[in-house]
Amino acid sequence: MPLQDMEKRRQGIRDHLVLVPCPFQGHMKPMLHLANLLHSKGFSITIIHSQSNSPNPSHYPHFFFRCLGDSSHIQSASDGDFVPFISALNQHSPTIFRDLLLRMHFQDPILSIIHDSVMYFPVTVADELDIPRIVLRTSSAAAGFAFALSIPKQQRSLPFQENELEEALVEFPSIRGKDLPVINTFHKEARDEFLARVHHGTRTASAIVWNTFRGLEQTTLEKMELLFSVPNFPIGPLHKHSGASLTSFVTEDHGCIAWLDQQAPSSVIYVSIGSLITTSESELVEMAWGLANSGQPFLWVVRPGLVNGSSNAAQLLPKEFKETTNKRGRVISWAPQEAVLAHRSVGGFWTHSGWNSTVESISEGVPMLCSPIVGDQRVNARFVSHVWRIGIQLEDGVERGKIEKAIKRLMVDEEGTEMKKRAMDLKDKVASSLRQGGSSSEFLHSLVDFIKGKLCNP
Ligand code: UDP
Repeated sequence: MPLQDMEKRRQGIRDHLVLVPCPFQGHMKPMLHLANLLHSKGFSITIIHSQSNSPNPSHYPHFFFRCLGDSSHIQSASDGDFVPFISALNQHSPTIFRDLLLRMHFQDPILSIIHDSVMYFPVTVADELDIPRIVLRTSSAAAGFAFALSIPKQQRSLPFQENELEEALVEFPSIRGKDLPVINTFHKEARDEFLARVHHGTRTASAIVWNTFRGLEQTTLEKMELLFSVPNFPIGPLHKHSGASLTSFVTEDHGCIAWLDQQAPSSVIYVSIGSLITTSESELVEMAWGLANSGQPFLWVVRPGLVNGSSNAAQLLPKEFKETTNKRGRVISWAPQEAVLAHRSVGGFWTHSGWNSTVESISEGVPMLCSPIVGDQRVNARFVSHVWRIGIQLEDGVERGKIEKAIKRLMVDEEGTEMKKRAMDLKDKVASSLRQGGSSSEFLHSLVDFIKGKLCNP
């Protein structure tokens, strides 16, 4: 063990947990928040990370870090097809992980491994070394359920018979067939294998931690308990629960907060389609004119790699659009999103409906305009628009006229005011769930007991 680690350990003997995040922004963030929470409950935390998108250890001096070795041969998912990247990472990691675990376990016994469900390589190693294993699902419970319904039939091993699948969907009335999760990839076999392994890893874990809360997803969480028959701990929203502000992989433009300060309350629509998905140039232009024609002030995150095949998407915005909107619009390359959503000037969020973005918006009572594209985003959008009724879903593509109308419905019309009220009610529910005695707070206590008690003496 490095000297500096030994010194840290000497400061107090803590039960040791090993956490394995997935190296995407939307997966790393909830895992680091979970790490902070568990550290605050007295655990010592080792983060096992890949070489790409690794967290900066100097930002987290209270954790230990171990790298899964040189993975430079694994191509990043910059083309938007993450299946080969994740599959290769899962194939590359077991041997190194096993060596790391053996060394760590010998020096400082590991009470439990907590891994992102999409990083399934810890499953066999943990079994072999007889170390208990907990899964973190970074999606909503509803998306978890929908994913379970979407995996290849022969590998499903759910408590449903084949002919019961339709009934299962009936039981899940808010979801239409077209809302089921989609993973766009050129590697369909690898995708099926990936889904089946994620499902197996979750089904055989000792427990599941969710970045959601009971007040939001009680019915679906009950379904998940039946589906996986292991304890479920919905302790989210993790970013609110941990209370820590994490450093993003990307440099945030904090100047936008001063700009928001100058805008009228609830007038600004914040626009971001997350950290991974890309769009075409023509869609970017439609988005631009939809925003411009809505007449609403906007703050728009245009990541450099947002448009397929371009390394500077902002340069592709039409000159006339920039001239028309330069007084009431601001385009930035990356936002301090949680602070933006909490700002009093922000009245709506046009989002791709990634789960972190959704839960961050709910936590601040901001209604949403949803443009889901892949993965769990359609399930989230459907719940936002039809279950919680705190937003509108843009369906059938991105077109300037539809965008303009939808922004007005969300930001100006009576309908939007009603959505805002419901969103504020959910924000209150978030606060209650995190207070002492609230559901997320209580589930966190039980999770700590579960790790310390049941896992020590199964
Ligand atoms: N995010 C951010 N600044 C931005 C855009 C996104 O900090 O300009 C963060 C956002 O707060 C969220 C994460 O990136 O925590 C995106 O995760 P999400 O699950 O919403 O979508 P993904 O990027 O995984 O598709």
